[in-house]
Amino acid sequence: MKDFFDQGDLVAVQTTQPLDRLLDYKAPAGGCHVGAFVEVPLGPRKVIGVVWGPGKGDYDRSKIRSVIRVLDVAPMREEMQGFLERAAAYTLTPMSAMLRLATRAPGLSDPPSMRKVYRPGAGEPDRMTDARARVMAALAEYGGLSFTLKELSQAAGVTPSVVKGLVKQGVVREEDTPRDVPFPYLDVDFGGKDLTGDQAGAVATLNVGISAGTYGTTLLRGVTGSGKTEVYLEAVAESLRQKRQALVLLPEIALTAEFMTRVEARFGAKPAEWHSGVTMTERRRAWKMVGQGGAQLVVGARSALFLPFLDLGLIVVDEEHDTSYKQEDSVLYNARDMAVLRASLCSAQVILASATPSLESWANADAGKYTKLELTARFGTAVLPKMRALDMRGVQLPSNRWISPELAGAVKSRVENGEQALLFINRRGYAPVTICRACGFQIGCDHCDARMVEHRFLKRLICHQCGESKPIPEACPSCQAEGKLAAVGPGVERLTEEATELFPDARIATLSSDLFGSARALKAGIENIAEGGADIIIGTQLVAKGHNFPLLTLVGVIDADLGLQGSDLRAAERTFQLMRQVSGRAGRADKPGEAILQTYQPEHPVIRAILAGEEEAFWKAEADERRRAGVPPYGRMAGIILSAPDVQTVFDLGTELARRDGPLRQVGAQVFGPAPAPIARIRGRHRVRLLVKAPKGVALQQAVAKWIGGVRPGNNVRLTVDIDPQSFY
Ligand code: ADP
Ligand code: ZN
Repeated sequence: MKDFFDQGDLVAVQTTQPLDRLLDYKAPAGGCHVGAFVEVPLGPRKVIGVVWGPGKGDYDRSKIRSVIRVLDVAPMREEMQGFLERAAAYTLTPMSAMLRLATRAPGLSDPPSMRKVYRPGAGEPDRMTDARARVMAALAEYGGLSFTLKELSQAAGVTPSVVKGLVKQGVVREEDTPRDVPFPYLDVDFGGKDLTGDQAGAVATLNVGISAGTYGTTLLRGVTGSGKTEVYLEAVAESLRQKRQALVLLPEIALTAEFMTRVEARFGAKPAEWHSGVTMTERRRAWKMVGQGGAQLVVGARSALFLPFLDLGLIVVDEEHDTSYKQEDSVLYNARDMAVLRASLCSAQVILASATPSLESWANADAGKYTKLELTARFGTAVLPKMRALDMRGVQLPSNRWISPELAGAVKSRVENGEQALLFINRRGYAPVTICRACGFQIGCDHCDARMVEHRFLKRLICHQCGESKPIPEACPSCQAEGKLAAVGPGVERLTEEATELFPDARIATLSSDLFGSARALKAGIENIAEGGADIIIGTQLVAKGHNFPLLTLVGVIDADLGLQGSDLRAAERTFQLMRQVSGRAGRADKPGEAILQTYQPEHPVIRAILAGEEEAFWKAEADERRRAGVPPYGRMAGIILSAPDVQTVFDLGTELARRDGPLRQVGAQVFGPAPAPIARIRGRHRVRLLVKAPKGVALQQAVAKWIGGVRPGNNVRLTVDIDPQSFY
C-alpha cells in the first residue's frame, strides 16, 4: 500500500468523533505519511485524527477540505492501526471510540512545549557573594546536569533572582529544552537477585520466547510470595536487553507505588507510569516518549495497552484474574484478552501472573494454548498460612456484632505477640442498608434501583452505582418518624467500630479505597501499616491485592459466604480467588500465618475446596460444570444492555430484538431475555438485558453485529454490547 501522500492527494482520516466512517481530506503542504496524526476541519471545528490510508474519492472532490496540519508526534504504526481495528471488531466498538482510547493524553495537538533549564556557563561572577557561591557549588556538584529555576534555587538555598542575576552575567546559562524528556535509562545489570532453582527455571523458559522475538503467552502461576514478581522483572530485563519495550499492567493504582520502588531497586531508575493518578503533564510525556522509544518500561493500568509503543516485546498482566481488568464503561474490553491480541500482532510475549488464575486462562493453559509455569514454594522461610473454617451456625452473636469470640481471641493473642491481624470484609462504607424501624422503608437512590450505603466517616449516604450522595436524614423520608432509621448489616467502617470496642488498646487502621483522599495518602497509609504502624487492619478487597505486610500473621474473613450469593456464573471462582488471595496475606515473612474463615456454609464445595487447598481439583470441578452448561470458557456469551428514560421503550426494543434472532440462530446461538437488569435503573435510565449464548468457535461478533444492525434504537435509547461479559449488573 502507498504510504506517503503528496500535497493534494486524497487521504482517508479516522477521527475521534462519533461518525462511523473514514473521512476524505486532501494531504497538506509537505504531504503526509500513513499513520500521521493530523488536525482536520470538521464542520466549524478542528479535530484530531489519524491518516488511515488512501482516500476513497467517492465524494465531490471540490468539496473536500485539506488537512490543516500534521502534528508533531510519532505517526501511528501500522501494527497499532491493525490492533485498534481488531480490538474494535472483537468488542463491537466504533473505531472512533477505539481511537479515543489510543489518544488519551492532553495537548497532543499543541506544539512541543519548551521549558527553561540552567547549566554552568562561562567565567566568574563580577562579585562573589555567599548566595552566588552556593549556586556555583550546586551546579558544580551535579556536573553536566541541568536544573529548572526552582530546582536550582532550592538546591542552592537562594531566591530565583540570584540565579537570574548570574544568567545576566553569562556565568549560568539559560536554555530552552523540550518539556517532554525521555525517562531515565533502566540498567538491566543494576540489581538482579540470586534466583532460586524454581525461579531460574521459569526465567529461562520465558527468556527463550523473549529472545526469539515471537508471540507466545505464558501463565505464571505461583502462591503469593513465591517470587512471581522477581521472575517477571527478569523477563522485563531480557526484553530490554533485546532493545524492546515492556509493559507491566497492575490491577490497582494503589499497588503502583510499591511496585515502582521495586523496579527502581532492580533497574536503578523509575519507569514511566500510566494511570488515572498520573498528572496530565506526565501523561503526555509518557504517551510521547513511548512512541519515540524514550520509555523502556511502562507500569500502568489497563488503558496503557493503547499506548503507541515503538517496539513492544513483552506485556505482563499481574494478578491476571482480577476483575478490574474488564473495563465496564464506554469501551467494554478485557485488558487481559486485549494484551494477548496486541502481543500476537507485534510478536511479543505475554506473561499472565497469578496465584489464582481465571478459569479462562487455566483452560487455555490446560489446552496447551498457553505455556504453563509454576512456582510452588514461598520464597525463603515463609510458609502458606493454615486455613480453617469457623462454623457460625452455633455461634450466638448479639445483634450488630460480626466478630465471633473465637476469632476475637485469636486476634487478641496475635496482637499481644506484637504481630498484626487483618479482618477482611468486602464491603465499603458503614452499612449496606438503612431501614426505618417504624415503617420498614429502605433508603434508596433517587436515580437508581439501588440502596444507598451509609458512609459514616463522611456522614453521608452514597449510591455505589451512580455516586449520588446525600446527608443521613434525621427522619424517615417515607413516614417522617424521627430517630427510627437503623443501619443494617456490616461494612468495613462498622467493623472498625466493633473492633475498637473489642480491642480498646489496639491501634486499628481501616483500609478502603474511599477512605483516602489521594493515591499518595493511600500509599503512605499502606507503608505505615507495613512498618508496624497498626496492630489490626480492617480492610476491603483493596488489601487482598498484593500488598506486603511482613508482620501480618492472622487473617480473619468476616463473611466468607458473601460472594457465594447471587447468580453470577463466576461466583464460585471469584470467592475461591478472593479467599485464597486474602489468606495469602498472612505469614509472608518468617512467622507462620493462619487464616480463619467465618462461614454459615462450611460444607459448601467452594469453602471446602478453599480449606483443603486442593486448587487443581477445584478448577477441574468448576471447569466440568461450565463445560456441561456450555458457558465460558467452553462457550461464548454476549450481553446486550438497553437503557432509556422510559421503561416501555426499552422493553419494546428488547422484545423486537428477541423476535428477530435469525442472524443468531444461523450460527447456532440463542438469545435469552429481555429481562430487567439486576439493577433495573441507573442514573434515571431503565435497563433491560438480553443474553446471547453461542457454542465456542462460531463467529459470534459478526452474528451479533448483523442482529443488532437489524433494529433501530430510537432517540435516547442506548444499546451497549458486552462481549464476554464478566458481570451481569
Ligand atoms: P509474588 O509476586 O509471587 O507474590 P514476590 O516476587 O513479591 O512474590 O516475592 C515475595 C518476597 O520474596 C519479596 O519480598 C521478594 O523480594 C522476595 N524474593 C522472592 N524471590 C527472591 C530471591 N530470589 N531473592 C531474594 N528475595 C526474593
Ligand atoms: Zn444512584
